[in-house]
Amino acid sequence: MPELPEVETVRRGLQPHMEGRVMARVEVNRPDLRWPFPPNMTGRLQGKTVTALRRRSKYILVDLDSAETLIIHLGMSGRMQIDEAPTAQFHHEPPVAQKHDHVVFHLQDGTRIAFNDARRFGAMDLTPTAEVENHWLLNKLGPEPLGNSFNAPYLVEALKKKSSPIKTALLDQRVVSGLGNIYVCEVLFRTGISPKRKASNLSAARVASLVPAIRDVLEEAIESGGSSLRDHRQTNGELGYFQHNFAVYDREGAPCRNECGTNIFRVVQSGRSSFYCPKCQR
Ligand SMILES: [Zn+2]
Repeated sequence: MPELPEVETVRRGLQPHMEGRVMARVEVNRPDLRWPFPPNMTGRLQGKTVTALRRRSKYILVDLDSAETLIIHLGMSGRMQIDEAPTAQFHHEPPVAQKHDHVVFHLQDGTRIAFNDARRFGAMDLTPTAEVENHWLLNKLGPEPLGNSFNAPYLVEALKKKSSPIKTALLDQRVVSGLGNIYVCEVLFRTGISPKRKASNLSAARVASLVPAIRDVLEEAIESGGSSLRDHRQTNGELGYFQHNFAVYDREGAPCRNECGTNIFRVVQSGRSSFYCPKCQR
């Protein structure tokens, strides 16, 4: 399942192909993904220029010159496949439509961008750009972890009211948006905080240490996504998924990277696996 860094990597991959371009033709090959598409989606997209490509949490926001914004969520398995138009310089095989290409954007310059989603947990909706923050998918989201309104005083205040374990509190999208299970595990390892510790009992100093750790973990993942993106583009233009080298995530039973002599534990909290070092994280 794509987390914030993967979504940001997809956004950055799409940006040079979509921003400032006209969507000459749009194919909508089924009535819905997770939810029905908005009425007349094809008509509301075709002929419109993409003015900006933004991200909010795990949503890609495609602003159009019609003052509407296309909201895209990749769901569990959604991918964006970019096929550039053939040029005189390089020979390309013409793109072949794939099974599960549910929505295809044909841009004015001949680039074909397909939203492919085998499991159909993805979503698309159209909403007035001025109202996008009030859309039902976005209106309960907390601050962006990489934005200015996410800072130590904010997080101290937000966690004061949380009697849940810190792991669960950081997964709460109203506290901070777009932070998923993998990166919360990594952040808690870096800050030496046990996932089981009650959020409201953490000292202000320990809560403050979470803010730079969250930014660092996400920015490093975005950076590594960027490099995997460059590698990928040369082969098939597929965006969205890449391997990371995690310190604790999915490493149950493996030795702690701090060389403390302890193996990584796994515990299930609120239905999600937490991976942590019981010696390094208190
Ligand atoms: Zn350790």
